[in-house]
Amino acid sequence: MTPGVRPLIAGNWKMHGTLAEATALAAGVAAGAAGKAELLVCPPFPHLVPVGEALRGKAVALGAQDCHAAAKGAHTGDVAAPMLKDLGAAYVILGHSERRADHGESDAAVKAKAGAALAAGLVPVVCVGESEAQRVSGEAEAVVAGQLAGSLPEGFAAAGGVVAYEPVWAIGTGRTPTEADIAAMHARIRAELEKAFGEAGRTLRILYGGSVKPGNAKGILALAHVDGALVGGASLKAEDFLGIAAAV
Ligand code: PGA
Repeated sequence: MTPGVRPLIAGNWKMHGTLAEATALAAGVAAGAAGKAELLVCPPFPHLVPVGEALRGKAVALGAQDCHAAAKGAHTGDVAAPMLKDLGAAYVILGHSERRADHGESDAAVKAKAGAALAAGLVPVVCVGESEAQRVSGEAEAVVAGQLAGSLPEGFAAAGGVVAYEPVWAIGTGRTPTEADIAAMHARIRAELEKAFGEAGRTLRILYGGSVKPGNAKGILALAHVDGALVGGASLKAEDFLGIAAAV
């Protein structure tokens, strides 16, 4: 944890759940919301409005999983950041490795989207992380530093932008880096943020993501410069998600 920084526990629901399951999950998270951490859930687009209704007046923020780089226009199937703001979202996850892989999103594309999010008044949660091959070949820190340099727009720090470090090989696999490796990467990310944004980079939140569960959350969240978690699979059960939040 970074002293004086409020941790963020974010749930990335990905492409899961029926409408009934999404609203029930939101209600379950809202009912148990307590403690030090800020809570955020990011449902799929079609569930944003009903989940937002389920969260109304509760201490859980709403976020989306992507947005377009343009504020409006002829972009069939896409969703603009001002639309997300308008329906009550506060955050948007950008550059998740699944989007980088499935949709070929480059650092430049992520940067443009993050700029659009900032312009709309949303806080971007920009994801970075190395592949297994890059970790094995000792390139992990350089890869992540490069992604940060290419993906973070001007104004990111002033808006309290969030970085999520998610090693691609740890996502949905039940495998995580050692705590020492997580700590080393988060220290590197902090150094990069300070280099890019000066003083403001010292208190930006850096989340860890990749197979975070109630059982390993305490150790991970206690590490220096780990200011919360981005949780996939374990965010689909209110009890598990709240268990992770309780580990802060
Ligand atoms: P996981 O996913 O917790 O299921 O590993 C994390 C993520 O992709 O954000």
